[in-house]
Amino acid sequence: MHKEKRVLQSGACAVLLIVVLAGSDAGHAAPLLKQIGPGLYAYISDNDTSANSTFLIGNNGILVVDTGLDAKEGGKLLEKIHTLSSLPIKFIVNTHYHRDHQGGNAVVGPSATVISTDWTRERTLSVIQSQAPGSGLRPAEVTFQQQLTVHLDPYSAEVYFPGKAHTSGDALVYFPQHGAIAMGDLFLTNSCPAMDQGSAEKWIQALDHVLDLPVKSVVPGHFELATKTELRRFRDYLNDLYSQVHALYQKGDTIEEVRRGIHMEKYKEFRQYEKYEATFADNAAVIYQQLQHH
Ligand SMILES: [Zn+2]
Repeated sequence: MHKEKRVLQSGACAVLLIVVLAGSDAGHAAPLLKQIGPGLYAYISDNDTSANSTFLIGNNGILVVDTGLDAKEGGKLLEKIHTLSSLPIKFIVNTHYHRDHQGGNAVVGPSATVISTDWTRERTLSVIQSQAPGSGLRPAEVTFQQQLTVHLDPYSAEVYFPGKAHTSGDALVYFPQHGAIAMGDLFLTNSCPAMDQGSAEKWIQALDHVLDLPVKSVVPGHFELATKTELRRFRDYLNDLYSQVHALYQKGDTIEEVRRGIHMEKYKEFRQYEKYEATFADNAAVIYQQLQHH
């Protein structure tokens, strides 16, 4: 998701190790690899602190979209890629600057060309500056404003900026030959999203655009591989919430009244995460603030 919090104190590590081992013995908590089409795979993370990835194996190299939280998560992804191909990782696309999407860059593709929007590169540079060196983040070498195409014969990947949404500089990656798209955190399956400096209004428009594309497989930033059915539900969630917040805002309600006044029972199956400020009420509060600054 997006909060950069250290989840564990070092004293808890031994306990964690036991839990992780027990978990893997029991056969769960392992990342899932799902083939979407020829050479194209979704890597579904086994935990909510590290994002999903998507990778495309071409004739001469591999493109990876998002690399996970850190060296460990990036290493898990690389291991999965290596079960399928020993070709070099030539390109990494980072959908946005949050660490859980780009913390594995250095491990996954030490000599890959990293691609992001200009905005994401700027934000990544300021994160590196504000945190101690050694953060492991690696900003993009190639940036763009609107779109670029990566040719990975015999396939291609169209990387584009959909407008402000989850952040102000997200990138989506559309695979036209596969009818697939990697959404970054513009879409989480059956879950409330985290909302950074973006725009809920433009976010909904960006989702409508994707729903118009001839897409069968939709890779979310987190959770299960999806189709347009889940994407449409997520779009409807954002749209319903936006309409409700807008009406309450027009009526003159305060932010606290709006947090309490929304009715999202219809989406009760959605995951909500207080620790990532990703609840119905948190999303409503962000939309309220965006309306204030409109
Ligand atoms: Zn994010």
